[in-house]
Amino acid sequence: MKKKVLVLGETRDGVLRNVSFEAIAAAKLIADGGEIVAALFGETISDEILTLIHYGADRVIKVEHPDLKLFTTDAYQQALLQVMDEEKPDGLVMGHTAQGKDLSPRIATKLNAGLVSDLVNIELDGGKAIFTTPIYSGKAFEKIKIKDGVILATVRPNNIAPLEKDNSRSGDVSDIQVVIKDLRTTIKDIVRKTAGGIDLSEAKIIVSGGRGVKGEEGFKLLEELSNELGAAVGASRGACDAGYCDYSLQIGQTGKVVTPDLYIAIGISGAIQHLAGMSNSKVIVAINKDPEASIFQVADYGIVGDLFEVVPLLTEELKKVLVSS
Ligand SMILES: Cc1cc2nc3c(=O)[nH]c(=O)nc-3n(C[C@H](O)[C@H](O)[C@H](O)COP(=O)(O)OP(=O)(O)OC[C@H]3O[C@@H](n4cnc5c(N)ncnc54)[C@H](O)[C@@H]3O)c2cc1C
Repeated sequence: MKKKVLVLGETRDGVLRNVSFEAIAAAKLIADGGEIVAALFGETISDEILTLIHYGADRVIKVEHPDLKLFTTDAYQQALLQVMDEEKPDGLVMGHTAQGKDLSPRIATKLNAGLVSDLVNIELDGGKAIFTTPIYSGKAFEKIKIKDGVILATVRPNNIAPLEKDNSRSGDVSDIQVVIKDLRTTIKDIVRKTAGGIDLSEAKIIVSGGRGVKGEEGFKLLEELSNELGAAVGASRGACDAGYCDYSLQIGQTGKVVTPDLYIAIGISGAIQHLAGMSNSKVIVAINKDPEASIFQVADYGIVGDLFEVVPLLTEELKKVLVSS
């Protein structure tokens, strides 16, 4: 049965995050030929919103309010509930980002709706969506069907391929005015601890360093390699605890969960808590001087060697190959 599905788009520094397009692709499957409506929140919304149509939304809604300039749970929850009330969709999809993780259970509770959190795949069974989500830190997968009511879902970045961008697609752009009141928190400013760079959770390639990197200097080698590959730099908790890099780079059970196309683990032993954050990467390359290191058990390709020799050589070779290609 055709359904109307709302997608909440997400921006960072005014630019739509890729996971918004992935959420549209997921919504298309849930909608089973029905309408996809994408909403975007902000103080002011630019024509960037049209990109949501180019990626498959049938129409878009601008929700502009000074309290929606920066994400706060209170304000976004109030606005989203009002949009849901106005549009009455059969489903709501958003990214499994910090924002989506925060909002989705609150909205599900308010609407008494079923929530599929962190989905990585959707299959259709007679027009009904069957969702796959990882459980036990990615060691097993669960298949979930929402029996009735509004379907709420969050999409893990980098798992559902966005639809091909079609700049010729057009659709209606409308506004919804929302009332936001009694805010308990307001955000004055966001101070970034790390320089811009590529967002780890959406990166296609990650070069990740562990305690074996031995210091900030060692991380510079990883940055050189990542620059050649257009990759983001990540880290194990071992490296973060040792003060080699910022905790915002930590990948794992208590850090970020990532699923890039290529994950290069350098000087990382492969503790279970680290694997919890990266073992579903499509291709894993490990560089470690210890041939018995557990990381080799999940790696598709392994290099046994001293990272201080291997990484500069790899960077040099990549420079040659990438320049000539
Ligand atoms: C509750 C809890 C939550 C946790 N959450 C996380 C988490 O989210 N993420 C996470 O990563 N960890 C987490 N941990 C910590 C985890 O258990 C490990 O301690 C940590 O992952 C180890 O980091 P590491 O692999 O960098 O360091 P190590 O285990 O010390 O490994 C360093 C590796 O570098 C190799 N090496 C050393 N020198 C070189 C060289 N010159 N060339 C090549 N290789 C070299 C060594 O052979 C070794 O394999 C958590 C732990 C607990 C208890």
